[in-house]
Amino acid sequence: MEVANRELTKAINQFNILNTIRKAGPISRVEIAELTGQSRAAVTNITARLIKEKMIFEKETEPSASRGRRRVLLGLNPAAAYVVGVKLSAFQVSFAVTDMQADVLSSLIVPVRIGKRSVEFVANLIEDGIRHCVAEARLNMRKISGIGIGIPGLVDSNKGITYWSPLYRRGNTTLRELIQDRFKIKTLIENDANTVTLAQQWFGEGRGVDNFIVVTVEHGVGMGIVVNGQLYRGLNGIGAELGHMVIIPGGAQCRCGKRGCIEAYVADYRILQSAIEAGKAGRWKCPDYSSLTIEEVTGIARKGEPALRKIFKKGGEILGLGISGLVQIFNPEKVIVAGEGVRAGDLLFKPMHKTIEKHTTPEMYETLQIIIQKWQDTDWARGAASMALQELYKSPFNRVRPVI
Ligand SMILES: [Zn+2]
Repeated sequence: MEVANRELTKAINQFNILNTIRKAGPISRVEIAELTGQSRAAVTNITARLIKEKMIFEKETEPSASRGRRRVLLGLNPAAAYVVGVKLSAFQVSFAVTDMQADVLSSLIVPVRIGKRSVEFVANLIEDGIRHCVAEARLNMRKISGIGIGIPGLVDSNKGITYWSPLYRRGNTTLRELIQDRFKIKTLIENDANTVTLAQQWFGEGRGVDNFIVVTVEHGVGMGIVVNGQLYRGLNGIGAELGHMVIIPGGAQCRCGKRGCIEAYVADYRILQSAIEAGKAGRWKCPDYSSLTIEEVTGIARKGEPALRKIFKKGGEILGLGISGLVQIFNPEKVIVAGEGVRAGDLLFKPMHKTIEKHTTPEMYETLQIIIQKWQDTDWARGAASMALQELYKSPFNRVRPVI
């Protein structure tokens, strides 16, 4: 065997073991050998190295009643490494510092419009935010092993280039290089919906699921597709753009320039805009349109205002049609809906659910789980942090694919 191949095999075996402990731990060496198919000797060898590197630790159980023996289990050391995740949105930048298990230690949300700023300004903001958040977690920068940045738009994560983002006036930015140069810490950049998809795959609802779809609803509508355990990126490494799939030809104007896109009915800003238009047309009464927020619109709709409920219903149906089309093509096990937009709850997702049921082949629908993810403000940044964590788990053949 060539040396390169031997190194690769070693890396794959180590990755398998670390991932088994991440997923199933605390777990015994015998069970690891069974789950990974590796010999007990190999497991003993590799876990000894991981213990020495403080990636995992040994833990003795209490003597069991039936067999009276203590068992030695292996668990992941959450303090083995720390990473930072950064998520750029139209109206805010959020940060999270997480440990090796993707648990958030500190977070920060800076309400700032970055749309018309230069990339250098954004880099300064990110640098300050990261330093603040790391200090809040009572760590110093030397303890940080990776930085992940999530951004809406078309991102080539391998090259680290953002081709287009609604946050910039012009595309082709090298934000990743700027941040990496400032901290001298490995930095990754990825489309924001993909970071959430990867976080789901590694630490959430997508664990152990080979085929699933994540739909993110917030200022825009994004998505991530996992097929056969791999994140689908398409020809240019750009991936999926659900928000700009046209459902109604000639329909509502979208910010991308086309008409009738899903986003033009579902995104927060469009629901808000439709609510204002309906108010001005006298279909419902609003005291002050100029300061109306999406949260208020959601609250009033929830109390029963029919004109507003109609807007959500329409959005839910359009989203359902888009998702139904994807289910027909990919036949996924799960569709996970995430993002701030989940605040709409049944207003949006009941009609969505009904539409998916109506338009999907019954055999595909029966096996489909639709999950509306409970959403926290820091989940975007946590998703970006998860991307940096995956680097640390050292998947040697494809950094986005967990083996188990
Ligand atoms: Zn569009």
